[in-house]
Amino acid sequence: MSGRTDVLIVGGGIVGAACAAACAQAGLTVALVEADLAVGMDATAAGMGQIVAMDGSPAELALTRYSQRLWDDLARSLPEDCEYERCGTLWIAADDDEMEEAARKATRYHEHALQAELLEQRDLYALEPALRPGLAGGLCVPGDSILYAPRAAAALLAEAERHGARALFGCRVRALHEGEVELDDGARMAARTVVLATGARAAELIPELPIRPRTGHLVITERYPALVRHQLVELGYVKSAHGTDADSVAFNLQPRPTGQLLIGSSRQYGRADPAVDRVIVARMLKRAIAYLPVLHGLDALRVWTGQRAATLDGLPYIGPCPGRAWLFVAAGHEGLGITAALATARLLSDHLLGRAPEIAPEPYSPARAWLETVVRA
Ligand SMILES: Cc1cc2nc3c(=O)[nH]c(=O)nc-3n(C[C@H](O)[C@H](O)[C@H](O)COP(=O)(O)OP(=O)(O)OC[C@H]3O[C@@H](n4cnc5c(N)ncnc54)[C@H](O)[C@@H]3O)c2cc1C
Repeated sequence: MSGRTDVLIVGGGIVGAACAAACAQAGLTVALVEADLAVGMDATAAGMGQIVAMDGSPAELALTRYSQRLWDDLARSLPEDCEYERCGTLWIAADDDEMEEAARKATRYHEHALQAELLEQRDLYALEPALRPGLAGGLCVPGDSILYAPRAAAALLAEAERHGARALFGCRVRALHEGEVELDDGARMAARTVVLATGARAAELIPELPIRPRTGHLVITERYPALVRHQLVELGYVKSAHGTDADSVAFNLQPRPTGQLLIGSSRQYGRADPAVDRVIVARMLKRAIAYLPVLHGLDALRVWTGQRAATLDGLPYIGPCPGRAWLFVAAGHEGLGITAALATARLLSDHLLGRAPEIAPEPYSPARAWLETVVRA
């Protein structure tokens, strides 16, 4: 590559592709380098693809709500193979305590101008009759959607390329230097700004970032059209996502436009091995069958694992690294990187172009990683 690029993005998952599109659309010269042979083959291909307003914290809700709006705007121009569909989420309350949580959740969503409707028991079964009897009710969030993330990442990269971005595949970055990246073959590429969008691998290049891989399993079934119509999530899911270091499972099921059912999800730290852990899959399926007994008689087609990029406070790192004005991070999205990709890209490009951001960027600043490191030392 010749000349000095404005923005060099390391990592071609959905976050890197979204950053490439946002920067190239804004008139910056962009290059993206990806270790794999195509876009979106890592966590992006392993994820569920739900675009969900998630309220684990006020900053999480602000980011996911903002990004959801950006996806809704983009949806009209996404190619059909992205399989964008506004199926909504049903948060399921198993008992009265969880109904109280559903009511609190509804209040938080309403404060962010999000539509959310509390469901009595009868309403829940009217919407999803296959759920097991005896559940208390739930919360319907009709604005949540789903998409096929690897194709969405490809569409974003294609948009970046239409605006002059260049993508290089099979190029692993092995080190970062001031205004430069060094590839595995020793070649160097220079840029005014380097953006690290390497997901769960971010700490390999910036060790100060406390990002840890957190493994998840998903199971996909054969085609059973119209068995379920909404994304179904147990209310305990947020606890599982934000919980401790222990292995956890939570019921989370998505009806794909193909009629297949995507069943999740699990969370485990400390598993570098991408092999399927049968014990946790069994736990996950048992939990799913407890909510949707009809699953017991269905055929599963495939099981896989993927690595979420977990941070200490559950929020991603988006912005410049302290003391290295040329180096930006866009990583650490845990289970929300598909949802938050567009907001991440917008915050990043706003920063680079000096535009006023639509949401406060401070909660996602990478500077807190350095603070966290000091606190832990
Ligand atoms: C089981 C599971 C379910 C999920 N469900 C959802 C969901 O429903 N909704 C949602 O919003 N999110 C979900 N997620 C999370 C989501 O998949 C991720 O947050 C998102 O894909 C992260 O995108 P990314 O671009 O940051 O990372 P990745 O997709 O992992 O991309 C990073 C890229 O960087 C490349 N790379 C790494 N190191 C280097 C290097 N040194 N040089 C060059 N390239 C490099 C990798 O090859 C990779 O392609 C789920 C995740 C899992 C595992």
